Amino acid sequence: MASIDTLPPLRDVITTHGLSARKSLGQNFLLDLNLTAKIARQAGDLTECDVLEIGPGPGGLTRGLLAEGARRVLAIEKDQRCMPALAEISEAYPGRLEVINGDALEVDALSHLTPPIRIAANLPYNVGTELLVRWLTPKEWPPFWQSLTLMFQKEVAERIVAEPGSKAYGRLAILSQWRADAKIVLHLPPEAFSPPPKVHSAVVHLSALETPRFEADAAVLSRVVAAAFNQRRKMLRASLKSVAPNIEDRLIAAGIKPTDRAEVVPLEAFCALAREVVKP
Ligand code: SAM
Repeated sequence: MASIDTLPPLRDVITTHGLSARKSLGQNFLLDLNLTAKIARQAGDLTECDVLEIGPGPGGLTRGLLAEGARRVLAIEKDQRCMPALAEISEAYPGRLEVINGDALEVDALSHLTPPIRIAANLPYNVGTELLVRWLTPKEWPPFWQSLTLMFQKEVAERIVAEPGSKAYGRLAILSQWRADAKIVLHLPPEAFSPPPKVHSAVVHLSALETPRFEADAAVLSRVVAAAFNQRRKMLRASLKSVAPNIEDRLIAAGIKPTDRAEVVPLEAFCALAREVVKP
């Protein structure tokens, strides 16, 4: 029977279970347990929390989360081949790891979790961005999660934490920073993964704020920001023309120059504009 001390090294797990990496599933595995423990520590104190892990693969980060004391881990993995390896971890940590074989974009994870909940994942980048946007745009705030600790391609991580005036600043920065504190907590070179991806990676930690940083209606802010950045080279008086009548007056009332471009407008001013555009 597997116990914590007898769990095999991840390289052996991959060989034993024939987990050759599949590109179609974005499989770049972390095999260094010191590194996965370090990532797990970035997620904060896990001892009182359920942790939702997406894409555990052979279980490197899963082992890190459990070793760092997570009360329970719910892991959702699409690749059926990983199930036996994850079952060994479940056995080593009785009652603390539940694994669902399914697509994280479809599984209803919430019904398997008890608050407080934190989320941690090393995911394929396209799935990661889609899930991040979903987690940041729930119907109600605060959301079901306290924090997100997620691996991204470095460029995506930079877009999440970007400040106005930078090329990376856009919709993702505004969505992330309006209702959460977002920071890059670790940088990883391609060699940290097996097989190594072509790009550098970074871990981003987002912690949910109790209330939004500035007042605005979520749907209106989202509409304004999407219109502003869809045509990011245009002046706002042009890109936002279809958002509301007399847009120049509303921009001025929100403290924004109508000739400015979206990428120089701070979050606070976008929120002010979202309040202005709904006025009669
Ligand atoms: N967490 C592991 C690690 O750090 O070594 C694996 C990381 S690998 C980058 C991404 C994992 O996500 C793979 O195991 C892959 O099978 C899984 N995956 C890909 N798409 C998924 C989806 N839609 N839902 C759940 N898991 C998915």
